[in-house]
Amino acid sequence: MTHASANVDHAEISKFEQLAARWWDPDSEFKTLHDINPLRLAFIERKVKLAGQQVLDVGCGGGILSEAMALQGAEVTGIDMGEMPLRIAELHTLESGAQVKYQHTSAEALAEEAPASFDMITCMELLEHVPEPASVVRACAQLVRPGGYLFFSTLNRNPKSYLFAVLGAEYLLNMLPKGTHDYARFLRPSELARAVRQAGLVVDEISGLTYNPLTQTYRLNAHNIDVNYLLSCQRPAA
Ligand code: SAH
Repeated sequence: MTHASANVDHAEISKFEQLAARWWDPDSEFKTLHDINPLRLAFIERKVKLAGQQVLDVGCGGGILSEAMALQGAEVTGIDMGEMPLRIAELHTLESGAQVKYQHTSAEALAEEAPASFDMITCMELLEHVPEPASVVRACAQLVRPGGYLFFSTLNRNPKSYLFAVLGAEYLLNMLPKGTHDYARFLRPSELARAVRQAGLVVDEISGLTYNPLTQTYRLNAHNIDVNYLLSCQRPAA
């Protein structure tokens, strides 16, 4: 990647632009993000006390995670390459009272402007939408201060994740619009861990998020990273 702003798939961005108005409807296409949000927050809070932390949320969308972290006392900046998701995110803070700073930029561009300026980075459900995920991981590694934590989440790539995340969620259950996910962009935990290590970060923990179709609920599951998973890692202290 030669130019920082090149690592963006505009077709992906336009999918989110079109759906953005429904971002905060918990029964919309974004239902999964609402459902898994308390679990993502719990995973983060096991490692970091959010109050007072300078947090960057990369690919924040309508701000579901950004707001939740801000409500725990973090000073959150949310960045996204979509205009509409950011507009919705800003509007929603008027309703919720959460204080989040939103900015239209990419991780790569911000890393050039403001390296090592955040205590913690979150980058959830974004890597499966970008052409070169390793470039985002590298930018995040530059953005966090030495000793700070980073949290990534994405979808594993195997026949089961294809079945659940693409066929199941998009075609059978209609939980997501068809074409939401491009299977080829799913990342195996080993691939994400390699990108993380190559960016100079140290992997801390990988945990699955599993869905029970009978109870229609998700839970953090350390033993099953087959479909959705979270990875925490740290930039070594200087
Ligand atoms: N992280 C949020 C939203 C995930 S949806 C959450 O988990 O709740 C993915 C978001 O990534 C969309 O808002 C989309 O506009 C954004 N996006 C896609 N490519 C991007 C890129 N290269 N840089 C920044 N944001 C991007």
